[in-house]
Amino acid sequence: MRKLFSCNSKNNRNPGYKPTVIFPCIKHSSAGMKTSRLAQNLQTGMLFLALVVSQFAGQPTESSSGKESQQMITAGDSQIFFNVEDGPLAVSKADLAVYVRDAAKAVTAYYGTFPIHKTVINFVPSDDDGIGFGTSTYDDDEDYGVVTINIGENTTRRNLRSSWTLTHELMHLAFPVVSHHKRWLSEGIATYVEPIGRMRIGSLSPEEVWGDLLTNLPKGLPRQGEGGLRSARNFDRIYWGGALYCLLADVEIRQRTNNRVGLEDALRSIAKQGGTAASNWDAEEAVQAGDKGLGISVLQPLYTKMGEQPVSIDVPAYLRKLGVVKSGETVALDDRAPLAAIRRAIDGTE
Ligand SMILES: [Zn+2]
Repeated sequence: MRKLFSCNSKNNRNPGYKPTVIFPCIKHSSAGMKTSRLAQNLQTGMLFLALVVSQFAGQPTESSSGKESQQMITAGDSQIFFNVEDGPLAVSKADLAVYVRDAAKAVTAYYGTFPIHKTVINFVPSDDDGIGFGTSTYDDDEDYGVVTINIGENTTRRNLRSSWTLTHELMHLAFPVVSHHKRWLSEGIATYVEPIGRMRIGSLSPEEVWGDLLTNLPKGLPRQGEGGLRSARNFDRIYWGGALYCLLADVEIRQRTNNRVGLEDALRSIAKQGGTAASNWDAEEAVQAGDKGLGISVLQPLYTKMGEQPVSIDVPAYLRKLGVVKSGETVALDDRAPLAAIRRAIDGTE
């Protein structure tokens, strides 16, 4: 049976979009992420399996068995298959193979290893302007992760290179599928770690990543009269409130461990202990496992606090301590700031 977990990625420039049966995932475009992401209705495609093995770092090869063709990329010991459904597309399967490879690399850059043993990605040609709707789920019966992404027929290679969507969906596979009112945690994690993973493989600059956080994290703050994140209904609040949780946890872990470890080590530990999308863990089990893995108590108390209560901070002032300073339309990074070493550790450059 397939778990009831899925998210989609859409552009906030389509406010008329109304999800029906699934919980939508939103992330706003920013200076570093200008790809158009218009919403599309979810289409669940049939999965066709045909194995063609290629190297993770090399050019994926393609099966030629007609529309049932499926390609496979390996990421360490993990297999990532992808299938392109029938329909017009400006990009080739080879282009999509690069998109898959780079997303898998970004996930591996953050988690150290690809978190689940097998994943099947369905690309569905659509009339989107660019990359559209994406979902991520886990099929318990078949025992693999399933990601579906709509690809607009005019999507270009450049669109694929700047797209965050597939990386976001694959990041979800590293964390348990949690119930609806705890989704702020899993969406927050995917929202926070996706650009960091892409930064670490060179797809984004640190300025783009921190500029995006400076612009968007305030959208996750509670408005007047709002409660904790578990009662949040607004997509911005859920995704960016969850991302703020991740940043606060990351910085606190690094402060308490003399910058020796960070959120990535906690999340790696959760996945290593079995708390991936393949598990039946709940959110509490996961955060407790993360704290246990590090030997300090950060994730669990902050999860309870931000879930139950409205937590507000001065985001620009907080980021300034990390050395993130607004500079015109972008940000400048100041290595003399008091917590600059922590920012560089998050960047992967410390
Ligand atoms: Zn998501």
